[in-house]
Amino acid sequence: MSALSLVALVTLVSTVFANQLDAHLPLQQQQGHWAQICSGNPTNKIRGCDRYGCGHFGAGRGSRKHKGVDVVCQDGSVVYAPFTGKIDKQARPYGNGNAIDNGLQLSGSGFCIKMFYIKPVKYSGPVKRGEKIGVLLPMQRVYRGITSHVHIQNCDLTDPTRNL
Ligand code: ZN
Repeated sequence: MSALSLVALVTLVSTVFANQLDAHLPLQQQQGHWAQICSGNPTNKIRGCDRYGCGHFGAGRGSRKHKGVDVVCQDGSVVYAPFTGKIDKQARPYGNGNAIDNGLQLSGSGFCIKMFYIKPVKYSGPVKRGEKIGVLLPMQRVYRGITSHVHIQNCDLTDPTRNL
């Protein structure tokens, strides 16, 4: 067998195997959906509107716009990695050191996101889809009556809604 036909064969076989593997993934995962973000919210329900604003991408925030999506999550709930990859670094939403000023940047599986209002279990290293990465900080202490949530935004600031 020539080197060229060997390459062709290997390519064909790996394509067939990749398709078979993909066929065995849950439909949601095939379509680029992330794992469950927060315990107690198996459908990644997005925050509606409350006295502080709405949770969808592009919602009004005074003169600015909401740059991410808010996934409903009770204070103290376990938060999971949406995809397999690595923790890039700590990412803080405000930089003012208040009770909810913590979070992470994660990348992998073709994604790069920031997740805010969580107390991370670690700030670096690999993570698997669905692995515990932290717990939700006490949002009610800072915004009493808000729908507590994880804020997720893409590093390139595009709309992540379709991945939820
Ligand atoms: Zn938000």
